[in-house]
Amino acid sequence: MSLDTLITNTIRPDVRSDKSYHVPDASGFVKLDAMENPYQLPEALRRELGQRLADVALNRYPAAAYGPLKERIRAKLGIPAGYDVLLGNGSDELIAIMAAACATQEREDRRAVMLAPVPAFVMFQRSAQVAGMDFVGVPLKADFTLDLPAMLAAIEQHRPALIFLAYPNNPTGNLFDANDIEAILRAQGERGLVVVDEAYEPFAQQSFMPRLPEFDNLIVMRTLSKLGLAGIRLGYMSAAPALLAQFEKVRPPYNINVMTQAAAEFALDHVEVLNEQARLLREQRAVLTAALAAVPGVQVYPSAANFITIRVPDADSIHAKLVTRKILIKNLSKMHSVLANCLRVTVSTPDENAAFLDALNASLADKS
Ligand code: PMP
Repeated sequence: MSLDTLITNTIRPDVRSDKSYHVPDASGFVKLDAMENPYQLPEALRRELGQRLADVALNRYPAAAYGPLKERIRAKLGIPAGYDVLLGNGSDELIAIMAAACATQEREDRRAVMLAPVPAFVMFQRSAQVAGMDFVGVPLKADFTLDLPAMLAAIEQHRPALIFLAYPNNPTGNLFDANDIEAILRAQGERGLVVVDEAYEPFAQQSFMPRLPEFDNLIVMRTLSKLGLAGIRLGYMSAAPALLAQFEKVRPPYNINVMTQAAAEFALDHVEVLNEQARLLREQRAVLTAALAAVPGVQVYPSAANFITIRVPDADSIHAKLVTRKILIKNLSKMHSVLANCLRVTVSTPDENAAFLDALNASLADKS
């Protein structure tokens, strides 16, 4: 049997021609490419967590409703009264759930559309494609702000079922103007949803969550990943209860495993520890931004997230030189024309930030 023929006969052409999501091997590197929190939970808490996890019943499926975990999320993470949350295996899964629920060809003679400003978080477009939605990207302006007239024109032209706005945006780090987001919510009206993706909310401290009661078409999505729990994979989203009930039908049962639930419950009982880590990182962001601004040849973009986007004379060469110095950051250069020669670095501990700055200075000076 020819496996090639088998694959041609079964796997969709667009999947066959695609590449899988690439995660570089970071062993031995100062890892500043993925917006992780560099701090672990303190040792004493980790030991206590270990004991909790030892008691988790691994032989049972997770309890269906995730009650205790949802209760903590509602209480500790600012979900408005009367609003529930839907949980995902990372917010990546929530994006996929929303795309799967909205993708259709049934209503009109065209596929449902997802719209987002670009450059955006890559999983928006990937999830649209896998679900069978068309993706429309509206370029940001050169200063990374939203092009509101272009967004509104695209809404009229494409009637998107879903709009994704990361707030702050990844990979540019800025917060879009809240008035622009409001205009987009109003333009969508009852024709479409607007997902405000607040993955970096702990570092921006600005949120549309309290505004859920104002907009029936607003969905606010967040994650525990950037707060310091990237390893457990837990995302959550809130919206009008009737809307959440629809997405709930698409969510795979048991998607939040028992270890993740127990770890998240424990961490949220100590959320002040995570909030303090986020505060330290906000402080370090200011320090690193100022230090980068003083490096000749480097342009720094203001960030409301736990990463900073910079422009350098030759991003490919600087990125490669940083790799030889065992510093891993993200090269954004080929992602979109507005990101030509841009690099993205995660804000980390003072030591790791200093190691990055030293390596960056050395790489800029190295003319080989
Ligand atoms: N949204 C944005 C804007 C992101 O940058 C990321 C992670 N890079 C995510 C969502 C996904 O986060 P997770 O799946 O870890 O919850």
